[in-house]
Amino acid sequence: MENKILGLHHITAIAADAKRNYDFYTKVLGLRMVKKTVNFDDPGTYHFYFGDEKGTPGTILTFFPWEGIGPGRTGVGMATDIGYSVPENSFAFWADRFKKFNIKYSEPAERFGEQYLSFRDPDGLNIDLIVSNTEDIRKSWETEEVKADAAIKGFHSVTLTLKSVNATAEILTGVLGYKLLKQDGNRYRFITDAIESAAIVDIIELPQSPSGYNAAGTNHHIAFRVKDDDILMDYREKIAAKGLSITPKIDRDYFFSLYFREPGGVLFELATDNPGFTKDEPLNELGTNLKLPKQYEPSRAEIEKVLPSLG
Ligand code: ZN
Repeated sequence: MENKILGLHHITAIAADAKRNYDFYTKVLGLRMVKKTVNFDDPGTYHFYFGDEKGTPGTILTFFPWEGIGPGRTGVGMATDIGYSVPENSFAFWADRFKKFNIKYSEPAERFGEQYLSFRDPDGLNIDLIVSNTEDIRKSWETEEVKADAAIKGFHSVTLTLKSVNATAEILTGVLGYKLLKQDGNRYRFITDAIESAAIVDIIELPQSPSGYNAAGTNHHIAFRVKDDDILMDYREKIAAKGLSITPKIDRDYFFSLYFREPGGVLFELATDNPGFTKDEPLNELGTNLKLPKQYEPSRAEIEKVLPSLG
């Protein structure tokens, strides 16, 4: 199993207001901010990472909060829904909480035999809370207001909306080790047995729908998890052999990455477990200090002046 794709590593989305984004994910949803850094290509913008205590791969949702960016449009060629795994019997808690904070949500429904409750974050990003059919033993991060009996455990799944399922399915099954589990109408569920959680990718096929537009409230890319850089580079060859262009290995400080655009248009990344978020902060301080990649450390004072206040 060790040389396989181990489900999702992280998902990255776009927000329009850093403080609002930070407050929503840490306070309303009760996730831990595991790293506060900047966009490595645009150091005047934050890069937030929200997850469990350690920022375990499969729990990490990251954001680029570009102040004042306009709304995007969720549509074809994108990851359109994030699925979070929550404990059984937690929907009443979440519905009350969403009411209290004025968050739009839908009544619980069922898909592939699993109950889910959908809501939108303050930028309009689609998120489902899902009670998994299989036991999710992951330990969630707890806050004063969101305790283990309701807290988010990490990803359950991600949904891609595509014009056509076939070419992307070929990458998922032919390269990344997923198999088709079920189909219901135009929704196809793929799963890997290499790991027990964050193991599902759903594809919705919508041939006639308009393309999405990437800005606030939309997902930028999804990253799949591999154990280390040797395995990462093995996958680089396999993906290149399918005729897809793929980046060289990129050092993201907390993991190593490769990026490629899958045939359906979604930006895919492969990311390693090593070195992880405790590389530059002890576990009990994760997310509390602004961490900069070393090329920006000399400009720290100017960067701190430009970044919006989260207080
Ligand atoms: Zn990424």
